[in-house]
Amino acid sequence: MPGHVPAHPLFDMRLRLTPELEALYEAEHHDERCLSIQHSLVVGLVLYNIHTFTGALLLRDVFEISAMLRLVVVTPASLLFLVLLPRLGGPARERLLVIAVLNAFFLPLAVFWTSTDPNSPFAFAEFTLTLVFACMSLPLRFVHAAGFTLLAFVGVAGVVSTKPGLSEDVVLAFLLQFGTGCVLTLYANGRTESLRCRSFLRELDVRREVVGAEARSDAFKHLSHVDALTGLPNRRVLDLTSERWFAEDRQLAMLMIDVDFFKLYNDRLGHPQGDECLRAIGRSLQDLAQASGCIAARFGGEEFTFLVQGLSQLEAARLAGDLVERIRALAIPHPGRSDGLGIVTASVGLAWVDHPRVSSPALLLATSDEALYRAKRRGRNQWAMADALKAEPPLEAASV
Ligand code: GH3
Ligand code: MG
Ligand code: MG
Repeated sequence: MPGHVPAHPLFDMRLRLTPELEALYEAEHHDERCLSIQHSLVVGLVLYNIHTFTGALLLRDVFEISAMLRLVVVTPASLLFLVLLPRLGGPARERLLVIAVLNAFFLPLAVFWTSTDPNSPFAFAEFTLTLVFACMSLPLRFVHAAGFTLLAFVGVAGVVSTKPGLSEDVVLAFLLQFGTGCVLTLYANGRTESLRCRSFLRELDVRREVVGAEARSDAFKHLSHVDALTGLPNRRVLDLTSERWFAEDRQLAMLMIDVDFFKLYNDRLGHPQGDECLRAIGRSLQDLAQASGCIAARFGGEEFTFLVQGLSQLEAARLAGDLVERIRALAIPHPGRSDGLGIVTASVGLAWVDHPRVSSPALLLATSDEALYRAKRRGRNQWAMADALKAEPPLEAASV
């Protein structure tokens, strides 16, 4: 969903994500953030120490202390922080970062304040650079950047208004220069931080969309493979499986199962009861299929199909007999049938092929259908085998 930004209160005026999202962001961006801070710190430290030389030109009376603070305090502390950085958790890392920039800002500010060198006012320019470093190069998180900027401005206001030798005009100019610098760098920080939060939220939206689409696609796929009434695989699965199994050179048997006198069942007990009967038969077939590693599918109407690989002709014939027996054993009452048997039965047509490659799924289907109608003609409640694919010597249809 490009361009969609949720109007949810996931980040507030202070540009903070909710604690859960912040934790997720930290987990996913920890390494990236550490690396980015390390880069900024290295560049920042090099530039910071260049000002040691400007100190030699502008703060001559306090040069030694200025250089000491930069080289002996700020630089080693920053290097230590740089090394420890990857081991720190997100909140600790961000807080230490604020402490680091406060040190880097206030120590030179104190030195600036104490200097009586007539060139010292020219050293003021570097404080805006520290603002740029903290708010734009690192950058600090927005709340931290705002706090740092405020403290920096208050500190600068205190220092320039009390530093000896600065006229009121210069103090005002310094405050305006530094104040506008504060506004600009904080504004830039806010935009960067807002962009960071928004792009993360947008990324989460996209991820949610993808997960939803995948779930919907899985659900559609499932629906397109399952028979709604019985929950069995449908005709489509049967066709795909038989095509796949035909490509393998293993014995293959197809058993077409048709419920006997089912129209009469519906006529006597109603279609809802008929549906329930089909479900019960479907469950029973599915149990057998799962136990024996074959496919039981609803072919359509009151017809089911068993597809099984790797059975000898004799084993397939036994399976056909088992199927007839299994449905009869459900003992579902069928008060409407004309032969007076009183329970639901099914007829089964078996087609078996030794080398599927020399046959075809369509032929196997046609022959199992032919066998089914043979079983029907012979009186139902039994199985029969088709002629076309029957092996020699012929296996007689068996009544069970
Ligand atoms: P035979 O023993 O020759 O197979 O007779 P039969 O009555 O079972 O066969 P026929 O083809 O005459 O009737 C099939 C019936 O199956 C008709 C139809 O109403 C019913 N049927 C098909 N699909 C469903 C279904 O999803 N639910 C219900 N309740 N009945 C169905
Ligand atoms: Mg039928
Ligand atoms: Mg029928």
